[in-house]
Amino acid sequence: MPAFTNPTDIARETLKTLAARRIAPDPENYQAIYNEIAGVRPPAARRCEDDQVPPKPGGGSEANWAELVRELIRQWDLKQSGMTAARKKEGLGRVLSNFAKDPAVLFTKLQALVGSWRENPVAQTGVPVEGLGSEEGSQGSPAAAMPETVASVEISLADVPGALREMLALTIQTGVAPRLSQFPDLRDEAILLAQQARDACDSLAIQGVAKKLKQFWIKLELRNDSDAQVLDGLVRLLRLLVDNIGELLLDDKWLNGQIAVVQDIISQPLDSRVLYDAERSFKEVIFKQSNLKHSLMEARTTIKNMMATFIGRMSEMSASTGEYHSKIESYAAAISKTEDINQLNRILGDLMKDTRGMQLDMMRSRDELEQAHRQVKEAEEKILQLETELDQVSELVHEDHLTGTLNRRGMADAFGRELSRADRLKTPLCVSLLDIDHFKRLNDTYGHDAGDEALVHLVRVTKEALRPSDVIARFGGEEFVIILPDTGMDEGVKVMTRVQRQLTKNFFMHDNQRLLITFSAGVALRGEGEGAESMISRADKALYQAKEAGRNRVMPAA
Ligand code: GH3
Ligand code: MG
Ligand code: MG
Repeated sequence: MPAFTNPTDIARETLKTLAARRIAPDPENYQAIYNEIAGVRPPAARRCEDDQVPPKPGGGSEANWAELVRELIRQWDLKQSGMTAARKKEGLGRVLSNFAKDPAVLFTKLQALVGSWRENPVAQTGVPVEGLGSEEGSQGSPAAAMPETVASVEISLADVPGALREMLALTIQTGVAPRLSQFPDLRDEAILLAQQARDACDSLAIQGVAKKLKQFWIKLELRNDSDAQVLDGLVRLLRLLVDNIGELLLDDKWLNGQIAVVQDIISQPLDSRVLYDAERSFKEVIFKQSNLKHSLMEARTTIKNMMATFIGRMSEMSASTGEYHSKIESYAAAISKTEDINQLNRILGDLMKDTRGMQLDMMRSRDELEQAHRQVKEAEEKILQLETELDQVSELVHEDHLTGTLNRRGMADAFGRELSRADRLKTPLCVSLLDIDHFKRLNDTYGHDAGDEALVHLVRVTKEALRPSDVIARFGGEEFVIILPDTGMDEGVKVMTRVQRQLTKNFFMHDNQRLLITFSAGVALRGEGEGAESMISRADKALYQAKEAGRNRVMPAA
């Protein structure tokens, strides 16, 4: 009798066991441990009494290990597309360590594993075929959750009902239940339904499951509707708040950039990637702003202290000059009264002494005041510098994180500046749109991180080949816009061709391999009073022609 019967408890215990045994939490391992804890047999081996199993032709339930090992070695040696030796090794290791205890299950699992290798076409070259067996495509997806026995081993006609039930159960269990973490009651119901679908062995039970499933979908739909309404409501609320803050803070440069980004985001359908990028950018800006604000506060406190000293000295000075004044008045009175030369000499001596004291006092005060003045000036300069830095940090919301180029907002600002400058100075202006050639293939072959590094490399080489006045912005994915001020068409094409040449000289290094990155580009010269959007659209058409003409070239736009 298994210790756990409630699906939620079994699920929790499964996760604990996976962690304790240090087994990768992939759907297959999850399934195996789940079954182990629930005390059920592996899913594909299950078959209902009334599934009408006809005897297997050629019979023989004995596992044919010799045949299996022979096939395993054969498939191991073949180079299938998308299957690396490391992947095979990992798969084999996983099956061996998970099912070593039960030879019968081990046999089925090994058979299924070899079958899944066999399914991939044998590669002609060492380069993985696009879309086939790529890591991204086959892991973490519901497809990967199907046990090999259902997904890739030939199923006899008699096994079909069982296999279908298993597929339904798995679809609910791995495709639906994990997406209901917000609604624990529905999630538990889904797990229960999956188990019932798996156990439904006669038509009555299947009808029962069908009825419950229907009710379940209705409940889910209602819940999703209310979810969408809540989300809509929240977005409306956020829009109100942001608009209001935007109006209240018209002059606040430090916040304006962030507010504008939020306004941009909520004016379009929500996209988790855009939200994530904005969050990262905000966190960085807020962190840097808070550091700078701290220094700013310190500089302001210094100024305040200096002012206090200044005022203190001023009042001391006026007090002592007042004192001297009255002393001098009394000396003057004494001088006018006395006729005695000795007395007069004494009074003059005292007067000289006091005057010298007063002079020393004045000099000390002047030195102190000069020093205070210097410190105030320094603090003021520091404040100015910190405020400039704060402005620059706030500008970060205009940058693309990966490549450090301007993002689309930054590009829009730069376009605004450059177009009005071109109008004012009556100078030509070109814009180029470039798109990396076969970038998807680079990602698929060397991984997404290598793709990211390639983007950074491209930007570095491009910046080096451009003039400081040229502006580069990430237009999206692996597309970049380059604004070339004071540049005619011939020169624009020349500049972009120079960038291309630089790229062929500076290989992108990945894992000690030299990879050549090329791009195609279109260049548009600004027409009379033409705006950014129209120029980019013409450059895009020329870029398309460059791709059509065989890539790795620059085309002028019509
Ligand atoms: P083409 O020569 O026709 O442009 O071929 P392509 O493979 O470059 O085709 P396309 O421009 O449609 O593909 C762009 C690919 O760029 C798809 C996407 O996976 C990848 N990509 C987009 N943004 C990024 C990113 O930030 N990092 C990485 N590594 N890849 C990205
Ligand atoms: Mg593209
Ligand atoms: Mg491309």
